[in-house]
Amino acid sequence: MSISEKLLHKYAELIVRTGANVQKGQTVLLTISVEQNEFAAMIIEACYKAGARKVNVDWTFDAHARLNYLYADQETLSTVLPWEKAKLEQMVEDLPCRIFIVSDDPDALNGIDPGKLSEVGKCRRKVMKPYRDAINGKHQWVIAAYPSVKWARKCFPDAEDAVDRLWNAILTTVRVQDENDPVEDWKAHTDFIQKKAAWLNAQGFSSLRYSSENGTDFQVELIPDAKWEGAGSVNMNNGVFYIPNMPTEELFTSPAAGKCEGTLVAVRPLSYNGQLIENFSITFENGRAVSCRAEKGQELLEQMIHMDEGAAMLGEVALVPRESPVNQFGLFYETLFDENACCHCALGMGFREVLPGGNELSVEEAREKGINDSMIHVDFMIGADDLAIDGIRPNGEAVPVFRNGTWAV
Ligand code: ZN
Repeated sequence: MSISEKLLHKYAELIVRTGANVQKGQTVLLTISVEQNEFAAMIIEACYKAGARKVNVDWTFDAHARLNYLYADQETLSTVLPWEKAKLEQMVEDLPCRIFIVSDDPDALNGIDPGKLSEVGKCRRKVMKPYRDAINGKHQWVIAAYPSVKWARKCFPDAEDAVDRLWNAILTTVRVQDENDPVEDWKAHTDFIQKKAAWLNAQGFSSLRYSSENGTDFQVELIPDAKWEGAGSVNMNNGVFYIPNMPTEELFTSPAAGKCEGTLVAVRPLSYNGQLIENFSITFENGRAVSCRAEKGQELLEQMIHMDEGAAMLGEVALVPRESPVNQFGLFYETLFDENACCHCALGMGFREVLPGGNELSVEEAREKGINDSMIHVDFMIGADDLAIDGIRPNGEAVPVFRNGTWAV
């Protein structure tokens, strides 16, 4: 690996200090693959240097996950054991900073029965959801990436130097270079996104209208007092600003659940449960996905949409200009990057924190105000190069927001 130690430390520091923004006395829960144990050590050290009280690690291992699905039965895999629940309860009590380093082989679960995958996921998420709801908005977290050999080979199948190329792509998109000060660059970047958010929030749009030559023809209602957010979040428990995704290029909000019409055409493949859905479109009527078409992964896409009541409705709309640094690299087979390439929408769970005082609302209260609820949240990319988006005011006036895939303002 030709990435210098110095650059790696710079990246680890950025994740801990700018991303999770670990504060003195906080506990940290790091989730990372056993294969990235050296980088794990750098992150653990950076956390302690930032004042962490204790750093715990959840080790993951692609091969173990695959073997579990191959050999263990569905009921066993679906069961959340008492010790796992105890761990989740402890998390609700401690509210640790969570750092997730993704490096998964996108093909790790290829060939596994999609029905088994979705049932196990569904059962486990159902048990874990109350714990997730209980910590939502009350802890800092960040997801960042580290290239594994298998992931790199998936992105650059013909390259001898696949890992170096993936490193270059990751470090470019997270603005970590030999000569720059990534902390300063991130400040300028988050300022830009927050200025766009302020503009959008001042417009009072009641809906957005999307169109493209590729067949996208879609209108979605917005929730009147829901805010556009981007770049960072504030932990409502301690007021600490953190950046949940590195990279991040998007401005997002949750639209009114069940209030959209028309067709969205995906412009990039979607990697879901370790498998690919390609060349697909989804058509909505009365706010619900009523049909979908995929050249590859049709069954998987249908299962996703039928996962539960809310899975057929939108939980997110996001604006990303096509100049995003992620866009120049093509597919990463990882949502963290691919969702930052261009404009997207997500089926499933919405974000109650976009409402005023949203974090204090129960899931039911948020649902009444129009925020979708589901066990899934799956982003799919619709940011065609010619995408046009208009913001529609309550009096019907249309304001250009995006033209040719980028900001019109
Ligand atoms: Zn998004």
